[in-house]
Amino acid sequence: MACGRILKPFWTLAHRWRAQTAIFLIAIAPLAAEAADYAGPLFDAHLHYNEEAWNGSVGPHSPADVLARMQRNGVKAIVANSRPNDGTKALASLAQTHQAGVTVVPFIRLYRNRADYDGWFRDETIYEMVQAEFARGVTGAQAGPYKGIGEFHLYDSANANGPVAKKLMQFAEKNQLAILAHVDDVAIDLLMAHAPGARLIWAHTGIGGAPVARVDALLARYPALMGELSYRPGLTCDSGKLCPEWRALLLKYPGRFMIGSDTWVNQRWQYYDELMKGYRVWLGDLPPDVARKIGWDNGAGLFGVK
Ligand SMILES: [Zn+2]
Repeated sequence: MACGRILKPFWTLAHRWRAQTAIFLIAIAPLAAEAADYAGPLFDAHLHYNEEAWNGSVGPHSPADVLARMQRNGVKAIVANSRPNDGTKALASLAQTHQAGVTVVPFIRLYRNRADYDGWFRDETIYEMVQAEFARGVTGAQAGPYKGIGEFHLYDSANANGPVAKKLMQFAEKNQLAILAHVDDVAIDLLMAHAPGARLIWAHTGIGGAPVARVDALLARYPALMGELSYRPGLTCDSGKLCPEWRALLLKYPGRFMIGSDTWVNQRWQYYDELMKGYRVWLGDLPPDVARKIGWDNGAGLFGVK
């Protein structure tokens, strides 16, 4: 007890000192802070509006819900693709999408269902479905042709040489469709060999974490190759800022990267605000013109979005 009484004033003082220090640090924090978050428009270059997000009608993430998420995060354009394609077509056709100020860049998804993930690269019925879908285009408020195919996945890069993978690459090249591909670095070379003029967007820029030097070499080798940055391992370090080697790569190729939400499961819709806020944090760490390119211009330029 005695000890407690003696110590009490000391601890009280120590606590007060810490509190004052904390107040002081909070007061100087704005002065010491680095650049503000990027505040410009965002182009979400990797968005899914799958069946389970809205069940073809309302829930849990109705068109009004997902459009509100885009709107409050300053997302003005999206690459939309969905399993099946109805979600993409719904977003493109609705007047409320137009009213929300969101431009839809529709891509043809190769998957009618989950089973299609594993065999699409050799499945002729997928090729036929893509042909039919492309011929139909999208209708409604943002009627027009599809602008790309994908996202498709290759979990074994050798399947990039599957007959349908090859035909689809050539189909995309011929029709000037972009391709959103979730593949490893080996598959980038294989896919590009089928269609050297194709506009390939590398989903996640290598979700397996291809070394930065390898990403650099691929960007140098294929001038039309673009990298989309969701889930990219090693991209951000302390406080959500860019890791040094990634910052250097983005500065070296400011015209080659885009951001994306990858709303592949509903949980990603629930965290859409946090995802976009996270992008704004590290974009703010770049020179304003580079941030604007990666946040908006690169995607908008690729697809002619005003
Ligand atoms: Zn995806």
